[in-house]
Amino acid sequence: MANLYHKDIYNFDEPVKSYWETTIDSNYYKYEKLNKNIQTNILVIGGGYTGISCALSLAKDYSEDVVLVEAGHVGWGSSARNAGFCCIPPAKMSVEGMFKKYGKEETKKFFKNTIEGSNFTKNLISEYKIDCDVTGDCNYEVAPHPSYYESIKKEADVYKNEFGIETKIYSKEEFEEIGHGGEEQYGAFSYKPGFAINPLKFLLGLANQAKKTGVKIFQKSKVSKIEKIGDKYNIIINNNINISANKIVMATNGFYKDDLFPQLNNRILPVISNIIITRPLNEEEIKSHNYVTNNPVLNNRNLLFYYRLLKDNRFLFGARGDLIGSEKSSEIKSKKMEKQMKKVFPNWKNVEIDYHWRGLVAVTTKFTPSIGKLEEDEIYYSFGYQANGVNTAPWSGNKLAKLIVSNSKNLNISKFFQGLPKTIPFPKLRLFYLKLYLIYYSLMDK
Ligand SMILES: Cc1cc2nc3c(=O)[nH]c(=O)nc-3n(C[C@H](O)[C@H](O)[C@H](O)COP(=O)(O)OP(=O)(O)OC[C@H]3O[C@@H](n4cnc5c(N)ncnc54)[C@H](O)[C@@H]3O)c2cc1C
Repeated sequence: MANLYHKDIYNFDEPVKSYWETTIDSNYYKYEKLNKNIQTNILVIGGGYTGISCALSLAKDYSEDVVLVEAGHVGWGSSARNAGFCCIPPAKMSVEGMFKKYGKEETKKFFKNTIEGSNFTKNLISEYKIDCDVTGDCNYEVAPHPSYYESIKKEADVYKNEFGIETKIYSKEEFEEIGHGGEEQYGAFSYKPGFAINPLKFLLGLANQAKKTGVKIFQKSKVSKIEKIGDKYNIIINNNINISANKIVMATNGFYKDDLFPQLNNRILPVISNIIITRPLNEEEIKSHNYVTNNPVLNNRNLLFYYRLLKDNRFLFGARGDLIGSEKSSEIKSKKMEKQMKKVFPNWKNVEIDYHWRGLVAVTTKFTPSIGKLEEDEIYYSFGYQANGVNTAPWSGNKLAKLIVSNSKNLNISKFFQGLPKTIPFPKLRLFYLKLYLIYYSLMDK
């Protein structure tokens, strides 16, 4: 595929100017570029949560010989620039839809796996003592309009009664006491587990651990081509260096450009997600909306807003809807989001925005993630977290490692994760489909 979006969003040479980049030691670009031909048993392509977790597990749990290559620097992809919400489920589907498609038992297994995913991320943080500013002890979903309150209550009940998830329902007044006020708050529910992290610090901590465990990590090393030669693969890096490998892990998620492996092409709809961050709010501003929580919050409109108060009292606000991907469109989208944020929290009308950036999340026709192996090839994949990678990608990487070494076709995980999504019909029309979706749901939200 040629670039689906403007080339700016695929600029692997420059770090995205996110707030997270200002919170770490600028000295962290410590991985080398691959500059000579090498051989390995397993090559992992992509240095985000999926790739790093998979490589770490292969090296640590199975003593495998692993090389990981990343096109940008380690800390370039979505794993380093997301909002840091560890939330569930990794699906763009209603629970009713899940019951209908997979049945109740399988849906229960899916939720069980997603809770395991949350705990897996939390355990990595504590096992490796990764200092990544963990905040919060649950997630909130907020009703943006009185008409949403009933559906929020229903969702909380289903989570509790069907999946054994701890939930709590709050009226508008109750949530104003423990969460926040503002214009689009008509009650909420909470669920556990749920928390938030500084995503870049988490990623770098994980990469550091992978390196210590023996994974050879190369950054600024973009895979330009994959050739099959007998039973082996010849992977061409930056158009001039070769890696010979027996197995390949594709961990490129939303940044895959349909250019490496035909069986994996046209299966992802990359969607741009944007974030803005304010200057630190002062006490008076925070009080003006009774903003008392550091838990991650999802505003449950169709085109959702996600937000949270950071530890230095900056406010992070996220949304989707840019269809271009250039630096200019990112700027335009950030202005639009500033207006949206200030409509929801009108007392912050004079608060400046200090940072804005964006990246790609991967949506698929299956509306749930895919973890597996191509039938006739030693090519393994995990992608399509439907914007829930903090919860799902590290766990998926770990499961994928198990699949690679097990010689079995299937993992003991829910069917929701298994199998490739169908290819997108007329893939060149992907952005057109997305546009229709955005128009339809923004009308619904109005
Ligand atoms: C703005 C934004 C906000 C988000 N907020 C949240 C959130 O709050 N909570 C949540 O759970 N999820 C969130 N997500 C989604 C989450 O970040 C992703 O699901 C997750 O990071 C995916 O991890 P990954 O390792 O699979 O992919 P990535 O982290 O994107 O890593 C893929 C890597 O592959 C590399 N690559 C691509 N092509 C090649 C090539 N040819 N050669 C070598 N390397 C290549 C890329 O450079 C990239 O670094 C958000 C995403 C964005 C963009």
